[in-house]
Amino acid sequence: MTATRFARSLAELRALPHLSVSQLKTFVGCPRRYTLAYVEGVVPQFRPIALAFGTAWHEAVGFHLTASTRAAPADRDEVKTIFRERLSIAVESDRVPVLFDDGEDLGKSMDLGMRMLDVFLDRVELPENVIGVEVPFALEIVDPEYGDVLDVPLVGAIDALVIHDGKPAVWELKTAKRKWAADALEYDLQPTAYAMAAEHLGFEDPELVLLVATKTTKPDVQVERLARTKADRDDLAVTAQSVTAAIAAGIDHPIRGWACKGCPYAHACR
Ligand code: SF4
Repeated sequence: MTATRFARSLAELRALPHLSVSQLKTFVGCPRRYTLAYVEGVVPQFRPIALAFGTAWHEAVGFHLTASTRAAPADRDEVKTIFRERLSIAVESDRVPVLFDDGEDLGKSMDLGMRMLDVFLDRVELPENVIGVEVPFALEIVDPEYGDVLDVPLVGAIDALVIHDGKPAVWELKTAKRKWAADALEYDLQPTAYAMAAEHLGFEDPELVLLVATKTTKPDVQVERLARTKADRDDLAVTAQSVTAAIAAGIDHPIRGWACKGCPYAHACR
């Protein structure tokens, strides 16, 4: 693997017209929210702490993976320092205020992150080799029935691309309040996109591993080996095609319900 395989950075890819899994999920969840966030560019009223926490987690674990070998793991204190620093920066310097869950604050979030990192670093064996973290990709989306190619690529970044047990593997790194349920393990679009991206980058039949660090009183790591078939890839392509067509047609109706209470765009939703 050479650096030229990842010739364009994620920032460069995102600067061009594109779709992302996050955009697809937003539109499917509520077309009005998609319009407010991605078309009208409305500044959200708040940013959930989970987003800042996840960003800090990715940076800390990314450092751990790239700075470690099995013989010489990165210094644990350094990994924790990166988490604390990134979380502080995300919370204190964001122009959009971060919203904590009830009873939470920055100190409690940091303490939780420290405990979660201890469990993750103890439980998750380092891979033999780390090819890259935050590996950018741009996928051409082809309609499985008619062969039409979407005007814009699906853009994103694989959390970690590694060699584990002699095989290429995609590691998806998540933090969550609880373990992922069976339906998310089976149908979530993100691992499908990662599998397609790894193959696009030249890695045949990569293993898909989901690592969910839980924010439970006693943190844990859910390790799941996921399977994604051609039918899953076709579902992603069809979803991308139909969402794109709906956006182009100006579909932006609201879907009012349980999600409105925690919606950062509720102040602009009419
Ligand atoms: S408040 Fe509800 S309907 Fe409005 S954008 Fe948010 S989720 Fe959609």
